[in-house]
Formats: sequence, structure tokens, C-alpha cells
Amino acid sequence: MTFRVAILGAGPSGLAQLRAFEAARCDDAESPEIVCYEKQSDWGGMWNYTWRTGLDLYGEPVHGSMYRYLWSNGPKECLEFANYSFEEHFGRPIPSYPPRAVLRDYIIGRVAKSNVRQHIRFNTAVHWVAYDESTGKFAVTVRDLKQDQLTTEEFDHVIVATGHFSTPNAPYFKGLEQFPGRVLHAHDFRDACEFQGKNLLLVGSSYSAEDIGTQCHKYGAKSVTFSYRTKPMGFDWPESFAEVPLLTHVVGKIAHFKDGTSKEVDAIILCTGYRHHFPFLPNELTLDTRNRLYPEGLYKGVVSLANPKLMFLGMQDQYYTFNMFDAQAWYARDIMLGRIKLPAEQAMARDSREWVAREEQVADPFEAIDYQAAYILDLLEPTDYPPFDVLAVADIFKEWEHHKAADILGYRNKSYRSTLTGTLAPVHHTPWMDAMDDSLEAFLHDKQSKPATAST
Ligand code: FAD
Ligand code: NAP
Ligand code: MG
Repeated sequence: MTFRVAILGAGPSGLAQLRAFEAARCDDAESPEIVCYEKQSDWGGMWNYTWRTGLDLYGEPVHGSMYRYLWSNGPKECLEFANYSFEEHFGRPIPSYPPRAVLRDYIIGRVAKSNVRQHIRFNTAVHWVAYDESTGKFAVTVRDLKQDQLTTEEFDHVIVATGHFSTPNAPYFKGLEQFPGRVLHAHDFRDACEFQGKNLLLVGSSYSAEDIGTQCHKYGAKSVTFSYRTKPMGFDWPESFAEVPLLTHVVGKIAHFKDGTSKEVDAIILCTGYRHHFPFLPNELTLDTRNRLYPEGLYKGVVSLANPKLMFLGMQDQYYTFNMFDAQAWYARDIMLGRIKLPAEQAMARDSREWVAREEQVADPFEAIDYQAAYILDLLEPTDYPPFDVLAVADIFKEWEHHKAADILGYRNKSYRSTLTGTLAPVHHTPWMDAMDDSLEAFLHDKQSKPATAST
């Protein structure tokens, strides 16, 4: 008798799981019956742009945190699928830092080549997952958004691939409720042009702050002030940027900081990260973690220690992305197919604790990259995911760190060599600061002239 698998979410992680089963099916392995539930109307997860914020048209929380003019913030050579190169997808080499629509096209290109879409139930939101000890099965309750109908189905395994960059972590600062301008979280940021000519305050000092800040500068913001809790980003910022200690309170339009300084601002964007949030999981099954390289409570960063038939993909803080999700999905697949035997509960807990302890020794981004590389190599070892040079990718990440430190507004003009094809990426036709059109057509067009609105 075949078994049933529920995959929650059809973003890069959920699609990796579908693709992993597809690869096994080609090898004549026993195929489970798979249902992938996706609340959006299309696949691609975070890479689908939506203008909506707040609730969607069915009253579900909007998943999308991406914005217009978003470009990859790492080299594409670091996230390449081992079984599907960028060159294969686009039919030629492309530059190293593509905009969102180009990466979306690539992610979807791989799965569109097979029949996996038939397994996805779109416009269907997962509302509850319960485990029945007596039957050993999960009951997954979903809402068909168009029909507004709840239904429940039984599964042997549940794969949670719902992402963790959609539920804002939005701290309160005194006076925000009286602030006479826009206050928003990065999750709701959509179009930098809204802030042309404005003085902006961005709270936070990680990727969202850095990218939304540079983005707003590129599209004409007057000034960008970053407020950090732990430490400044420390890049060599142009004159209209500043980094200041944490915001203490706001009086009218004046923002006050921990060091006693203040600044008049027109809008405040909380780039304060996201929460792992699983409103569909009961207490005993949920994953309670901050954004870290090795979430506690998981064996191999995937298998729930609370119930090994429940697995999570993509829950790590991410240097590696798409190829790490693949490594996880192939590993999870092989557990479900019985190709990998899980050790006893205590051994899994010990292994997990050791990785967590090892993460606590990580001192800087370079060690973090090595740590995530080691984690992926550990996952890849027992599966038949095509080997890729994980350590060479780590070297590209380190080069990327140096390029960012050298030129925060210019690092996206650099090129890297694919570890799969050996091809050095061509230089993009327009420097990133002048590339105002982020469409796939503009990016792939070889002889595009510089747009008239380019900054000088
Ligand atoms: P997601 O892509 O978030 O997909 C999760 C899916 O689950 C979604 O389709 C969602 O609709 C669905 N879902 C959620 N809840 C439910 C539910 N209850 N019922 C049914 N379906 C549900 N990574 C990079 O490699 N390069 C980048 O440049 C980059 N830029 C980023 C920029 C931003 C602003 C953010 C927030 C993230 C960025 N990332 C980037 C990381 C990005 O999250 C990953 O690349 C990738 O999208 C994670 O895939 P995922 O499938 O795990 O999650
Ligand atoms: P993040 O990396 O988790 O960083 C969260 C930030 O919020 C940290 O600087 C943290 O400061 C700060 N913070 C948290 N709570 C705070 C509080 N109470 N007060 C003040 N500061 C607080 O989250 P993120 O920057 O949103 O990035 C999320 C993901 O999106 C990443 O994977 C990133 O790669 C991706 N992303 C990509 C792009 C792109 O260009 N393609 C753009 C944006 C985001 P501490 O350091 O003090 O903890
Ligand atoms: Mg997914």
C-alpha cells in the first residue's frame, strides 16, 4: 500500500520536495501519493511579487515580503540547483545578480519540465495539523479559499515548507502612534519611489535594512538613517547615509537615539526581521526558534524531534538557499522512502544538540558560511542529489562578503564563475545603480541603452 505525503507550501522548498520525489519516480522507486497545499494562486513562494499588503482577497495573511526593484543580494552562482544550471535554463550565460523576476523564472523553469504541478492545490490554506497516536496519521485541515470550505485529509508524513520571512517581528518604540508619517515593517514595503525626496529612518542592521536603504537611495530618497540594536553594518556609506544607535522614542517627527542624538524623519521602516510562525501547528508539534543557522528541535535541520514523520524545510537562516533546500528535500524524501534509516530518538537529539553547540561557536560571517557548507555536505552524503562543489560555493560567498565591504552600492556589478558549468558570468549591460528597470526583458536584453532616469 502506498503512503500519503502532505507538502505545505509551493515555494522553492516545497517545490524542491516535489522535484525530489519526481527524481525518484524516474528511478522507479515506490511513489507516494502527494498533495501540496499552496494558499497563493501560483507557485514560486516568496518570489511571486504582490502589490497587496495585510490580508489577501480571502482574508489570509499576505505571504509576500518582496518588493519592486528587488535584485538578488547574493551571487546566483551560490544558489544554483545542482541538477539545473542557469545556463541550461536561459540557454546562455547571464550576469551574477539577477532581479527577482529572473530568479523566479529559473525556479519555475525546473519544475515546469515535469508533471509536478498536478500535485498542487492552489488557493488552499492549511489551517490545522493534528497527529493521531492511535492511527499514526496526521489529519490536515485546509480551507479552499475560493469555495470557502474546510476539508480534512489524512497523511502519513507532513512536510512544512511555509517559509519564515512573512510574519513581521515589529517592536514598539514610544511615540510611534503619534508619528505624523508612514510607519511600516519591511514585510509591507513595496515601492521605493514612494519615498523620493524623504528622510528615512530604518530600524535594523541586517539584509532588509541594507537593501531597502540602498534601494530607496537609488530611487531618490533624500537621506537614509539606519538605527542598530547590536552593531552597525559598518559599510562605507555615501554621504546621505548614517548609522546611529537604537531608537529610544519618537516625538512628532523627531526620532531620538540611545546616544542622545536625534534626527527629523518623514517615514520609519522597521527592518527588524521575521518570526517563525506556524498558526496551523499544535504546541507539541510546532518549531519554536529564532532566525539561526541551526534551529533547535530538528535532526539534520529537517526532522522534527517531536515527531519524526513531521519535517521542516528551509527553516534556517540562509546563506545557501535553493541548493540547501534541495539537499534537505532529497534527505527528507529518502527518509520517507525508507532509504535512510533514522537513528533512535536519543541519538537524534544528541546529534541536533551538537550542531546547535557548534553554531554557538560561530564567530563571524566567514565561519557562518563554513558552518552552513558543512551542514549541507553532511546532508548530501547519504543521498543521490547530484554532487556539487559546496566548498567552492562557500569561497564565492566569502568573495561576495569582501565585495560588499569594498563597495555596498557596486557589489552587484561583479561576476563569478559557475561551479557547475565553469563559465564566468558576463558583466551586466548596466551598472546596478543605473539599472532602474528590473524586468526580465530588460535584464536579458543585451543591447539595452541606459534609461533616461538613470542616476548620475
Ligand atoms: P517561501 O518562498 O516563503 O514559500 C513558502 C510558501 O508557503 C509560499 O508560497 C506561501 O504562500 C506558502 N504558505 C505559507 N503558509 C501557508 C499556509 N498556511 N497554507 C498554504 N500555503 C502556505 N533568497 C535568495 O536566495 N536570494 C535573494 O536575493 C533573496 N532575497 C530575499 C528577499 C526578501 C525580502 C526575503 C523576505 C527573502 C529573500 N530570500 C532570498 C530568501 C527566500 O525566502 C528564499 O529564497 C525562498 O523563497 C525560501 O523558500 P521557501 O519555500 O522555504 O519559503
Ligand atoms: P534578519 O536577517 O533576521 O535581521 C533582523 C534585524 O532586525 C537584525 O539587524 C536585528 O538586530 C534587528 N532586530 C530584531 N529585533 C529588533 C529590535 N527589537 N530592535 C531593534 N532591532 C531589532 O532579517 P532581515 O534583514 O529581514 O532578512 C531576512 C531575509 O530576507 C534574509 O534571508 C535576507 O537575505 C533576505 N533579504 C534579501 C534581500 C535582497 O536583496 N534580495 C533584501 C531583503 C531581505 P540584531 O543584530 O541586534 O539582532
Ligand atoms: Mg516551499
